[in-house]
Amino acid sequence: MSLLSTLVEGLNTGSIRIVDLTQPLGPETPVIGLPPMFGSSPGFTMDTISQFDDRGPAWYWNVLHLGEHTGTHFDAPVHWISGRDLPDNRCDTIPARRFVGPGCVIDVHREVAANEDFLLLPEHVEAWEATHGRIPGGAWVLLRTDWSKRLDTATFLNVKQDGPHSPGFHKTTSELLAVARDVAGVGVETVGTDAGQAGTFDPPFPNHATMHGHGKFGLASLRNLDQLPATGAVVIAAPLKIVNGSGSPLRVLAIVED
Ligand code: MN
Repeated sequence: MSLLSTLVEGLNTGSIRIVDLTQPLGPETPVIGLPPMFGSSPGFTMDTISQFDDRGPAWYWNVLHLGEHTGTHFDAPVHWISGRDLPDNRCDTIPARRFVGPGCVIDVHREVAANEDFLLLPEHVEAWEATHGRIPGGAWVLLRTDWSKRLDTATFLNVKQDGPHSPGFHKTTSELLAVARDVAGVGVETVGTDAGQAGTFDPPFPNHATMHGHGKFGLASLRNLDQLPATGAVVIAAPLKIVNGSGSPLRVLAIVED
């Protein structure tokens, strides 16, 4: 059998399964907040065009209103000033091949349970690699924190008097992954790919600055990372082909062989 017919056979028999890494997208979907001097992204709203009524007796459809970076979404390199002038840096120009890659799941949920400001360090990556092997080029590196189990918006965004608190990456880790490992990008369970306090870091938002400056991608607000093996999954994360888009909500799927 060909590789693809073997894949279909595995899906039909259940030896291969699809894990949905996506949040529901609706009015309750949490959206990142920024200090008031910056522009803000609205929450998701949906207006009915018709629903089996005078406006359309046999059909139902809606108009969506939302920011590109809402819910489970993709960050393109052009999202950040460091990636502004790179080639193929927008949702409509990134080659589709780059959306598909092996998933490497780094599980730090215990560390995050003890420290909500946990930052992944290069030594954590190297310890993971000592067990699971070197992260391959083109990989999606997924940070399992179990943060997505915070189902209410307040604990998910976790904003305190000094701003939001949530885990992320140390800038040296982002450099390691972007340059030495040449990954496709990183994916997180939190509302953005930087730590909650990263606006105070030097540089601010170092994961965005580093990853996008090297033409790499981000995935935010993922779920179900606890259903993935550390290695072996294939992740498909393809944004909408928005012309000049800086990012896009998307359905992120992982193909897993049991
Ligand atoms: Mn984003």
